[in-house]
Amino acid sequence: MDLGIAGKWALVCGSSKGLGLGCAQALAAEGVNVLMVARGAEVLAAAAAKTRADYGDRAGASVDFLAQDITTPEGRAAVFARRADFDIVVTNAGGPPPGDFRDWDREAWIKAVDANMLTPIELIKATVDGMAARGFGRIVNITSSAVKAPIDILGLSNGARSGLTGFVAGVARNPQLAARGVTLNNLLPGKFDTDRLVGTMQGAAQKTGKSLEEIRAAQQAQIPARRFGTPAEFGAICAFLCSQQAGYITGQNILPDGGAYPGTY
Ligand code: NAP
Repeated sequence: MDLGIAGKWALVCGSSKGLGLGCAQALAAEGVNVLMVARGAEVLAAAAAKTRADYGDRAGASVDFLAQDITTPEGRAAVFARRADFDIVVTNAGGPPPGDFRDWDREAWIKAVDANMLTPIELIKATVDGMAARGFGRIVNITSSAVKAPIDILGLSNGARSGLTGFVAGVARNPQLAARGVTLNNLLPGKFDTDRLVGTMQGAAQKTGKSLEEIRAAQQAQIPARRFGTPAEFGAICAFLCSQQAGYITGQNILPDGGAYPGTY
């Protein structure tokens, strides 16, 4: 299916690896010009070069990158100095660390809220009016399945991302955006095979004395699909949400999780 977005411009945050990279690759494969952002310049440059070679060149899309911390005002200013009129914005940054809520002070909360709620809100604020004026726009926020089914040790994520979810639910229904071709949706990953997931499994292995493979097998056994998702699968969903065909989908929380969420709704 031709998604009808070749030639559009996308900002994909947190895209040197994992789910953000999956989104950048899927968009480049559709001919979307992509600006990839992450903090680590070396890994980002290599990821951008591979994305360009594997997807962008074939589809006639440019793939550029900028090493910035997207959670800082300076980082966002640098991104928008490079280009201000993005048609597609994928918001993403690292998730907050796990822990016990008794140990989180105000500083820990501010950091989590800053990265996982206020940063996407700032990116939305900076781009949606221009999108509406041009008659097309797509915001996809990478959040977490924890928004639907909270994970006790990820309280910082449960809280901060729920705040973003509430904000997006309201803004997406604003006719000044919805009636002008701008959609805002959240993508809620369940368990996807990325460095972050491997990191949390390594932590669990150390804590329990089990091997990484035992932890992996135990976690996959909890998922009806009996496997983790891949960044490519995640990217394909993101690209569809950015497509012309998805123009009537807005304000939604899409949960790719292999069936792990046990609820009917
Ligand atoms: P990942 O493999 O660790 O990749 C994170 C990416 O974001 C990297 O490119 C990283 O590069 C970049 N990044 C992190 N902080 C950044 C910042 N401040 N500014 C710019 N770029 C930043 O993680 P992932 O698994 O793809 O997860 C992506 C998001 O989905 C996270 O918020 C995570 O909590 C959430 N999530 C993931 C899963 C899963 O199963 N994978 C499940 C639920 C939720 P640099 O470090 O170089 O900046």
